[in-house]
Amino acid sequence: MATNLQVAAARVLSTNPATCELLKEFPCAGEDQVRAAVSRAHTAQISWNSQPLKNRLAAVREFQRLLHSRKCELARLITQEAGKPYVEALLTEVLVVLDTARFLIESANRLLRDQPVPHGNLAMKTKSGRILREPFGVIGIISPWNYPFSIPATETLAALVAGNAVVLKPSEFTSLTALELQKLLHQAGVPHDLFAVLPGNSATGAALIHSEIDKLIFTGSVTTGRRVAQEAASRLLPAVLELGGKDSMLVLDDADIEVACSGAIWGAFVNAGQACLSVERCYVHRSIYDSFLAGCVDKAKKLRIGNGLNANVEIGPLIHERQLHLVDTHVQDALSRGARLLCGGTRLRDLGPNFYAPTVLADVTQDMRIMREETFGPVLPIMRFDHDDEAVQLANDSDFGLAASIWTRNRARGEALARHISAGTVMVNDAVSCFGISEAPHGGVKTSGIGRSHGKFGLDEMVRIKYVDSDRLPGMKKVWWYGYGERFTRQMESFLDMQFAQRLSGRIRGALRSADVLRRKTQF
Ligand code: NAD
Repeated sequence: MATNLQVAAARVLSTNPATCELLKEFPCAGEDQVRAAVSRAHTAQISWNSQPLKNRLAAVREFQRLLHSRKCELARLITQEAGKPYVEALLTEVLVVLDTARFLIESANRLLRDQPVPHGNLAMKTKSGRILREPFGVIGIISPWNYPFSIPATETLAALVAGNAVVLKPSEFTSLTALELQKLLHQAGVPHDLFAVLPGNSATGAALIHSEIDKLIFTGSVTTGRRVAQEAASRLLPAVLELGGKDSMLVLDDADIEVACSGAIWGAFVNAGQACLSVERCYVHRSIYDSFLAGCVDKAKKLRIGNGLNANVEIGPLIHERQLHLVDTHVQDALSRGARLLCGGTRLRDLGPNFYAPTVLADVTQDMRIMREETFGPVLPIMRFDHDDEAVQLANDSDFGLAASIWTRNRARGEALARHISAGTVMVNDAVSCFGISEAPHGGVKTSGIGRSHGKFGLDEMVRIKYVDSDRLPGMKKVWWYGYGERFTRQMESFLDMQFAQRLSGRIRGALRSADVLRRKTQF
């Protein structure tokens, strides 16, 4: 880990990727600042959690009201800092968060209330048990730049509603958006110490993991995720890991080709392909392959690229030069191994250093980097298949398992195939949009992550489960306590027979022989 001095000396820059204009510069929070923020958060969490849930939900309601009233300025800020078209900032960031608030306001009471646990074991019938959902304390959140508002905001709202405090380390590229989230939450009545944003780099993130947080919610790449998991494991810190994806799209022979082409284009190019749920691999049935390619190319060529603040623009810049270089490397690797370039495949320098043309590649093969590694750019690589089993096998032949989509006119066929795909989510006849369903769990299998965010399962990640059991007959010694002996042993054998003997006669015999255990005298 970097020393406090190194962290404190560093700075992070917020830059508009469309214009390369420097928006603001921030000093990185150092270890001392991280520790102090976490300590203040611990103190603030105690009184926050002692309030009734309805008070916490009142703050969420006020946050929702404020966010709605400032939706336009916030979406503009997101576009300036992350590059995505303004309308995408509205729909995939602001709307997702407004709806998460709606979900929590409607469901938190039901999902967080104590839950009775009926006992099936006959020996335990005198007891009554319940599950309590208690906050962890302070949740540390480390978030990426590609959804700089919706990812930290949805996680933060769930954490706060469950009674936790939150310390957020946003991506080094999108501090301004995170600070706007902080401003909105504080104005909505969330105490300042209860939610703190600490701009910084990877060392700030590492410092957060090693501070006194009680749980970590990390969203980012697999490479960083592995490192973070190791650091968290070294102090047995529970962690949710929302990592990268290489989502497959399976276009079956009965798909509506026109709809599937539009879906593929949007799924691959939304946010310039920089979505964890982007369509990154497309498998199309041989019988419709050529028409599908033609449809995709036609649509890709019509896309308007530029500064996302222009309402007509559909694809903005990539976040930075490094990302663009990675995308181009994957495209060049595919071309050098025999893929066919149908459109794109070039940088658009006239627009700025971070723009890349929407690219459609045909005849890719499974061994190319573009089919194996996360590309995270505006590229749609397409490959043909002959039958459904082969499509499933290709989809599952990946280290990743975030999501997948199946395109067919026959929903039952799509849903049946979905059961065979190794992924956290499978959509039939749509892609990516599952992130906007507040009730739906989000998360992956394989290297795409551990744990879930969103919905009931996301809220469950924000609580510790405590089981409380109380005996209804406090004046009675339990029959299984000490005072063992030959007679007691026989009674217990019969007690097991009463419940589990294969024949009814064996069960009745067991019941008769074990019954007098209730009159047991030789106990101490
Ligand atoms: P990244 O892994 O580079 O960084 C993510 C965050 O981790 C940043 O805040 C960064 O500062 C921090 N970080 C880096 N090194 C760290 C360290 N050693 N200790 C602690 N924190 C550290 O990812 P990125 O480039 O910001 O985001 C893109 C990646 O995120 C893609 O792989 C994408 O698929 C993934 N992602 C996943 C989901 C999901 O829900 N599964 C959602 C969005 C993005």
